[in-house]
Amino acid sequence: MSIKVPSEERRENLSERERLERRVTGLCRYIGRSPWVFHVNTGSCNGCDIEIIAALTPRYDAERFGVKLVGSPRHADILLVTGPVTSQSLERVKLIYEQTPEPKIVIAVGACPTGGSVFYESPFTNAPLSNVIPVDVYVPGCPPRPEAILQGVVLALEKLIEKLKGGSEK
Ligand code: SF4
Repeated sequence: MSIKVPSEERRENLSERERLERRVTGLCRYIGRSPWVFHVNTGSCNGCDIEIIAALTPRYDAERFGVKLVGSPRHADILLVTGPVTSQSLERVKLIYEQTPEPKIVIAVGACPTGGSVFYESPFTNAPLSNVIPVDVYVPGCPPRPEAILQGVVLALEKLIEKLKGGSEK
C-alpha cells in the first residue's frame, strides 16, 4: 500500500509533521483502535532510543493518536527495535518477537538494526535485525529524527492494515 496525500491536504499546504499527524489519526480510525508499541533496545548507544522518546513525548506527542508505549510485548501491535542485536540480547529479541501476538509489525529504528552500521560483521553483534526476526519497516538514520520515526509508524499502520485484511480473508 503506498502513501497517498489526499488532495485537500495538498491544497491546505500542510507541513510534513501535520501531514504525518493526519495520516496516523486516519489510519488509527481505520483499524478502529490504538496501535500499542513495545520498545526493544538490543544494545544501542541510546541515540535512537532518545529519538523514540522524543516522538512519544509532548513535542511530537504520538500518544495523542493512541500510539502508546506498553510494558509487555504481549500487549503490543508494533515492536520498535533499536541497536545492533548484541550477543547478550539475541535470545531475548527472539523471545520478545514470539511473545508478541499476531498480526504484528517490526520496525527497525536506526542504522544499527537496519544494516549493522559501525557494528557490521562484529563478532559480538548479529545485525542486521532481519537476520534474527522478520522486519516490516526500516527507519534509516543515526539516529533518525522523530519525524522519520513517525513516518515509520505510518508505514507500520499501513502494513498492519494489510495483515488484518489478509487475516480476515482467510
Ligand atoms: S543507529 Fe546510531 S544512534 Fe542509533 S543506536 Fe546505532 S549508533 Fe546509536
